[in-house]
Amino acid sequence: MNVTEKNIDFNVESIRKDFPILRREVNGKPLVYFDNAATSQTPQQVIDVIVDYYSNYNANIHRGVHSLSQEATDAYELARQKIQTHFNAAQPHEIIFTSGTTHGINLVANGFTSLLNEKDELIVSALEHHSNIVPWQMLCERTGAKLHVIPMNQNGDLDLSEYDKLLGPNTKLVFVNHISNALGTINPIKEIINKAHTVGAAVLVDGAQSCPHIKPDVQDLDVDFYVCSAHKICGPTGIGMLYGKEKWLKTLPPYQGGGEMIAEVTFKKTSYADLPHKFEAGTPNVCGGIAFGAALDYMNAIGFDAIANYENELLDYATKLLLEIEGVKIYGTAKKKTSVISFNVGNIHPYDIGTLLDKMGIAVRTGHHCAQPIMDYYQIPGTIRASFMFYNTREEIDYFISSLKKAVLMLS
Ligand SMILES: *Cc1c(COP(=O)(O)O)cnc(C)c1O
Repeated sequence: MNVTEKNIDFNVESIRKDFPILRREVNGKPLVYFDNAATSQTPQQVIDVIVDYYSNYNANIHRGVHSLSQEATDAYELARQKIQTHFNAAQPHEIIFTSGTTHGINLVANGFTSLLNEKDELIVSALEHHSNIVPWQMLCERTGAKLHVIPMNQNGDLDLSEYDKLLGPNTKLVFVNHISNALGTINPIKEIINKAHTVGAAVLVDGAQSCPHIKPDVQDLDVDFYVCSAHKICGPTGIGMLYGKEKWLKTLPPYQGGGEMIAEVTFKKTSYADLPHKFEAGTPNVCGGIAFGAALDYMNAIGFDAIANYENELLDYATKLLLEIEGVKIYGTAKKKTSVISFNVGNIHPYDIGTLLDKMGIAVRTGHHCAQPIMDYYQIPGTIRASFMFYNTREEIDYFISSLKKAVLMLS
């Protein structure tokens, strides 16, 4: 099927064949998976890598002299290099494997404990996921530092003139997402980073929602820390990465103590291992790391430009059809946004619509999307969120729209 003339080469039918889960039925209907902002699906190519690992070379890494351990170590370190190349980090040891975005943010927030005091100020945005709010609040509790918030407007854009006012000589850290998971807004992070650097503040960007759709260049952005989760980029759960500039990773103390992260241990004193191992205590998710690398290979083979073009078309198509339904209100109408649509229909509770859509085989998210401050801003308890990936189709959107109309009829 050719989606549009512009995307004549984007063969979504052949791409869909890579995803076994897209062939299953839910409640007797073909699955329509529109909960991609919560987790993406996994292509056979990545599943094969996982099966191959456990079938052929499962071993602990960096420790054994035996062949299996060498093979596993090589594959794991090769994955680190793939991630380095993908994000254009200057050095492989600036890539730290984590269990995901949440872990990466906690690692950094914990590391700043000994570097801050009550005079210091931190800046967060109004558009954040709870995992980019709570670890910093905990840091403020430990250090006495103050937390300021860049406000948002009705469209779901950040108010950067307020950001200018918040920045000052005491600002030590700014943390903001690249793309909002609740609204899809693409934030102007390059500008946010540049401005923070003029006052000497470091910036952490939560890339959980951007990495499925665009390919960030951490050196071009000049970002200090960048975090993401593999499970939103066609990889498995339980693995992610933290990019940190070498100078920061050298400055921050380790997060967890244990095996793998030490150079020498005595009961008097322990010295820590070099980067990246200083931050990778214990046996890591070896298979997950290797599969993360394979997921990036898969996405890069399709190409992020092609992915973004196609997803933008899905977004425009679905937005137009949704707005034709009476009572639909879309939250998050920023000019620059990705394929996430948060909406409500009249006064119908999002949960009721979500439940009926599930009966028709459609997976959407309902609720606050781990971003309660955004819901508070709009004074709503939650929304229905449909989020698309490159393996979704216009036909699925058509079915979603007609099913939504049915659900609304039943509930009004
Ligand atoms: C999903 C998400 C997170 C949390 O990711 P985990 O994989 O649960 O750690 C954080 N921020 C944003 C913007 C997200 O979309």
